[in-house]
Amino acid sequence: MNSLDPITFDNSYAQLSGVFYSHQLPTPVSSPKLIRVNHQLAQQLGIDPEWLESNEGVAVVAGNQIPNGAIPLAAVYAGYQFGQWNPQLGDGRAVLLGETLAGNGDRYDIQLKGSGPTPYSRGGDGRAPLGPVLREYIVSDAMANLGIASTRVLAAVTSGEDVFRDSALPGAVLMRVGKSHIRFGTFQYFTAQGDIEATRQLADHVIQRHYPQSLAAENPYKDLLDRVIKAQVDLIASWQSVGFIHGVMNTDNMLLSGETIDYGPCAFMDDFDPDKVFSSIDRAGRYAYKNQPGIAHWNLVGLAQSLIPLLNNDETTAIALAQESIDAFPTLFNNAYHRIMREKLGLTKILDGDEALIKNLLELMTEERTDFTLTFRRLSELASSHDDQSLRPQQSIREIFELPTAFSTWISQWHERIDEEEATTQEISKAMLAVNPVFIARNHLVEQVISSATQQSDLKPFHTLVDILEHPYHYDSRCSEYAKPPQTDQVVKQTFCGT
Ligand code: AMP
Ligand code: MG
Repeated sequence: MNSLDPITFDNSYAQLSGVFYSHQLPTPVSSPKLIRVNHQLAQQLGIDPEWLESNEGVAVVAGNQIPNGAIPLAAVYAGYQFGQWNPQLGDGRAVLLGETLAGNGDRYDIQLKGSGPTPYSRGGDGRAPLGPVLREYIVSDAMANLGIASTRVLAAVTSGEDVFRDSALPGAVLMRVGKSHIRFGTFQYFTAQGDIEATRQLADHVIQRHYPQSLAAENPYKDLLDRVIKAQVDLIASWQSVGFIHGVMNTDNMLLSGETIDYGPCAFMDDFDPDKVFSSIDRAGRYAYKNQPGIAHWNLVGLAQSLIPLLNNDETTAIALAQESIDAFPTLFNNAYHRIMREKLGLTKILDGDEALIKNLLELMTEERTDFTLTFRRLSELASSHDDQSLRPQQSIREIFELPTAFSTWISQWHERIDEEEATTQEISKAMLAVNPVFIARNHLVEQVISSATQQSDLKPFHTLVDILEHPYHYDSRCSEYAKPPQTDQVVKQTFCGT
């Protein structure tokens, strides 16, 4: 093995016809320095984390050296952004180095982000400031540790160069890993041009790569559509279950793989409010928490339209097939959502009244503005024998959070409901503590970390936060500051796109 073969590439996207991308090298930066390597992810991918931390690894993450086997390219796509059609987007500040196979045979893209301009930069500088790079690292890792499908950051470096937004900011580059970067908008780019052959080639690629089971179906493209819908359903249900607001659910930010991508203006909610919006550019609240399932449905309609020419030679039949798949969304979503919410409340049986119980809880939380995460965490503790004395003091959040008395009636009804379960209340409590996180990537913590890094060049708070978020379900009162909701003066009301 040559010293520049530490990543074993096996590139399939680059084998597709040239209409899908432009060959594009990253633009080197002046003096890259390591921020962090995700050791656990590196090991999963069979890449030596110590190599990634070496000078050579840092040079590769920075885009200053191209590893053997890479075929760097920028992919083209389009998209509906806040409902408006944009016919020409693409990797404007990212370059796909190639794909690698993990030990279990799963294929992963290795992409650089912030690596310089491409033919799709549309006048942008192709760069990323340090703040948004740290945000993407922290939040995507937190999501993955919560078991939510997500693209992840394998490594990040500072560039030693400034990027200019409203002011000069330190620049950074990250290495992103995902099952692929094929977006709803990738299909839409080709449909808009009436390029059915490209649409078919892309669909075949997605089937082979993500949904090989579809090949056995009577109509593989319809089966593909159904599987993508199911993946979105599961993804959005999991977002809702942790109070995650994506913020830019444009069709160019939705992946066929069903992983979360684009950690720009995203945020986890503190106090529960279904109308909550964080993104500074989302003035109409299009991507508010409560709208996320409906927007996913809308985005899927766009994808289904792209696939219509593949579904059947007869257009009327094809449209009917697409409609059938799309119409399944509300029920699929409702089922997936309630499955997770029942689990969060310790309910394994499906009984009449469960959905009302969940709805009443969320209404109460909205009225009382209780913290989303800590409400479920505290309920997990309170499941046990109607008191939580079985938890040692350092394992309980009762010192930092208690439910208001307005919850008493609801809690009694819920206790009656969990009495219907076979498991003991202690077992129920344990199961709930394993699915209701105590540590989430709270916005005020993320902002503090970014401010230390950018203003004092201090990355220690970043490392501490990433370390804590590796264990979202393990409470230790010595880390209580990381579990607490923000003080009034710490509340972050808006997030900004990482451009
Ligand atoms: P995003 O808001 O990150 O989803 O980006 C939307 C589009 O703008 C994508 O095509 C990006 O590649 C592109 N873009 C965002 N920031 C930059 C930048 N600084 N330079 C060039 N292109 C960018
Ligand atoms: Mg994007």
